Amino acid sequence: MAAPRFLADEMVGRLARYLRFQGCDTRYAKGMADDEIVRIAEAEDRVVLTRDRALAAHARRSLLLTSTALKDQWVAVARAFPDLPREVTFTRCTVCNGPLAREEPHRAEPEGAGVPWSRIHAGLPLYRCPDCGHRYWEGSHTARVRDVLRAWAGELDR
Ligand SMILES: [Zn+2]
Repeated sequence: MAAPRFLADEMVGRLARYLRFQGCDTRYAKGMADDEIVRIAEAEDRVVLTRDRALAAHARRSLLLTSTALKDQWVAVARAFPDLPREVTFTRCTVCNGPLAREEPHRAEPEGAGVPWSRIHAGLPLYRCPDCGHRYWEGSHTARVRDVLRAWAGELDR
């Protein structure tokens, strides 16, 4: 079974970012009316993630998230879709959901161009979003996200 694709409503935007870190194709319904969310979800075969009971009932595929806490929302998604990756995969842009592409390090890149020069010099993998230009690399931020995901995954076994 292919991994589910999601459409996160405006109330669960932080959850959408984590799902993108995990490589899940997750659109964010910022500024969309409910009818539009339902229509796009159906057209693109996406599961609507929402805290809105009426919207959840209206969508063909949906997961109603009852908690306001990010961790509880994540656990609810992970329980409903146990095959989702629980790691940082560097395959989706967390800003715009674009598919990330591996980028060759440019050793001539000037310091301060966004990526720490030490990363470039060490030849560590870099990734770029072709849609918005945002770049990603393994660093302190991804280490924090990995820690958070590991802690949340621990909740699943309880
Ligand atoms: Zn992007």
